[in-house]
Amino acid sequence: MPNRAHLFVRGLVQGVGFRPFVRNLAVSYGLKGYVLNLGDAGVEILLEGDDSRISSFIKDVLKKKPSVANIESIERKDEPYVGNFKDFTIEKSNDARLTVKSVIPVDLSICDACITDIYKAGRWKRYPFTSCAQCGPRFTMLDKLPYDRQNTSMAAFPLCPDCEREYLAPTDRRYDAQGIACSCCGPVISLVDKKGVSVSGDPFITAAKLLSEGNIIAIKGIGGFHIAVDPFNELSLRELRRRRRRPTQPFAVMSRSLENVTKFAKLNSVERALLSNIFKPIVILPLNASYRFAESVAPGLDSIGVMLPYTGIHLLLMDAFKKDALVMTSGNYPGKPINISNEKAVKDLNEIVDYYLLHNRNISNRCDDSVLKVIDSNPLFLRRSRGYAPSYVKIPWDIGDDAIISSGGEFNVTGSIMVKDRVITTQHIGDMNELETLDYLRNSIKYILDTYNISKITRVAHDLNPAFLTTRLAKDLANSYGARTIPVQHHHAHFAALLAENQMPLDAHMIGITIDGVGYGYDGGAWGGELFHGTYGKIERVAHLKSQPMPGGDLCAYYPARMLASILSNTMSDEDILKLYRYKYARHLRHGLNELEIILKQAKDPNTIKTSSLGRTLDSIAVALDVCHIRTYEGEPPMRLESIANLGAPDVLRLELKTDFINNQYVFDTSAFLFDILEKIKTNRVPDIAYACHKAIATALANVACELSDQHSTPYVGLTGGCAVNTLLFNHIKKTVEHNNKRLLIHTNYPCGDGCISLGQSIVASATQIL
Ligand SMILES: [Zn+2]
Ligand SMILES: [Zn+2]
Ligand SMILES: [Zn+2]
Repeated sequence: MPNRAHLFVRGLVQGVGFRPFVRNLAVSYGLKGYVLNLGDAGVEILLEGDDSRISSFIKDVLKKKPSVANIESIERKDEPYVGNFKDFTIEKSNDARLTVKSVIPVDLSICDACITDIYKAGRWKRYPFTSCAQCGPRFTMLDKLPYDRQNTSMAAFPLCPDCEREYLAPTDRRYDAQGIACSCCGPVISLVDKKGVSVSGDPFITAAKLLSEGNIIAIKGIGGFHIAVDPFNELSLRELRRRRRRPTQPFAVMSRSLENVTKFAKLNSVERALLSNIFKPIVILPLNASYRFAESVAPGLDSIGVMLPYTGIHLLLMDAFKKDALVMTSGNYPGKPINISNEKAVKDLNEIVDYYLLHNRNISNRCDDSVLKVIDSNPLFLRRSRGYAPSYVKIPWDIGDDAIISSGGEFNVTGSIMVKDRVITTQHIGDMNELETLDYLRNSIKYILDTYNISKITRVAHDLNPAFLTTRLAKDLANSYGARTIPVQHHHAHFAALLAENQMPLDAHMIGITIDGVGYGYDGGAWGGELFHGTYGKIERVAHLKSQPMPGGDLCAYYPARMLASILSNTMSDEDILKLYRYKYARHLRHGLNELEIILKQAKDPNTIKTSSLGRTLDSIAVALDVCHIRTYEGEPPMRLESIANLGAPDVLRLELKTDFINNQYVFDTSAFLFDILEKIKTNRVPDIAYACHKAIATALANVACELSDQHSTPYVGLTGGCAVNTLLFNHIKKTVEHNNKRLLIHTNYPCGDGCISLGQSIVASATQIL
């Protein structure tokens, strides 16, 4: 029976070769009508033909769609049959109003078919910008929706007659692909020196040769610059560290193929799939102990961040470089956002690099590489950015059109916007210690508001800490929109983000283990090792690591020997601590024993700020075990401690983190724990003690969490915070929780660390109003 059906497809369906796929499928079923991109990033399909064929067509759309496409819903409206179409066509985009149902297309890595094109004769031979309808950059070159060429930075490169022919041919792989170009019409690569003078020869072969000779080169990619250096050249690595003032922060590497990666890293099937997926994120992998990179690639760590080439630029460079890997670290001036413009890069990076491998396509949106780590087959985000952002999560309730902006915390900041039943989160922005980074956050939030046409902002959520730059930004934004500000406690944001990601209903409650650096607590203390019982709207602190004085505040984070002395001062006499430090740790204080005396005084001062942070506790253990004494990047002492613990024998030593019950809260006695660790040094190997520490902390936290979950009648125990990506802690917590027959909730789409804070702030701000 002839019928007419109007379909509206939502999800990631633009910029992924979806329309040509629909057209070819419709033609194969003998259906007539059209397909077009909607301004809201959905796709409209009108079909006329036999009703059973229309139904089969819809089934096939879901079954056979391009692998990158993600169909969220297909809405079908049947209409009376008219019979006015001669064939099935792809119509021009409809400029209908953008709505929040839109999806910004994300960046995709180069596909296999395009890689083949680069290696065979033709217009794409060795052409670094080769792409098709199913691959290539999107968000990083998109000025605004809808995703059409004139709205991207490819608008500056008119198609040559050959490209245009393919762009218009419905059966071609490059049909209607907005980002395509070839060597006749597209962007070009150039290699220049520090003075901007171009270097002759093939840019890739010359750059590879310069890298092999020890030079440091800035490489422009799709979302920003990388800085490349030879990972087998210790002198060059040290020089780069000196110039960037980053003495030990680990560098990520790019490797030509999975086969090469297996030479220097161990990887399981989940890691393998993640590394080679369509987004090509950085994956943290355990290093093969027998493989030798130069010492300064990732000092003191037993793992390395690895990515595969995701553009033709990277492929051609890696081909020419020939070694197993190339350091590709983020191309920014220390503390500032990653560079995106040629002019600014040449200015900002001039003291850091020797050459620049540039191209003349503009980067519309800056986007760092995403970083993930796999623990127990669970991919966990350390940084959610290129390929994964900006995208949204659906929330189990709907707030209508009154949007909420959230400005995040202080480190690893992202921004979020909640509207209707979803939260859209920006790409990774970075640490808020520079106004330039704050501007980046402001602009990224504005990009999402503009792109989705969101103008009614009624609330702006921010961290409880009044001193944060992001709190200041929230107040500015609230003023300009006439909105209310809503302060949200840091760990409440972690807790709520975790519930939301797990699609828990509005009245769900759980026990949340939140372990990280620090977050401003309701009592003004620096929290970071807490157990909460609560819901989206309200949390109650039910257990925490002992509150320890932080003499000199943040100085304790940079010089953890200060923190260790403070923790011990609760269980040892000043005299004994002086004796211990004279013999062992005083050299890790900038002013030796004199400094220690002041620390011990400050530790007794009731006005000294107190912390319950697990991060600071792990820092102190790292000092006690002589593993790491100064923090030069966030998380350094715990990361090094974990690397040492991985060398420990599992069950030769048992430590216990004891619990007291004080003022209706469980308190984990970290002072007694550190004292015990010092005792064990006399008779045990450091790796064995490090392993036992992780196990003791994880088991204690998880056991108390399970006990509390019984008391509060909930089967759910959540795990969140920057320390949750510690493999040993994660595994021991999981094991204990499951042993107690509870369900462990973990992050799936957002980082465990502070990349999830803006999501959580939006959730709390909306939930507190609904409840
Ligand atoms: Zn392709
Ligand atoms: Zn062309
Ligand atoms: Zn946090």
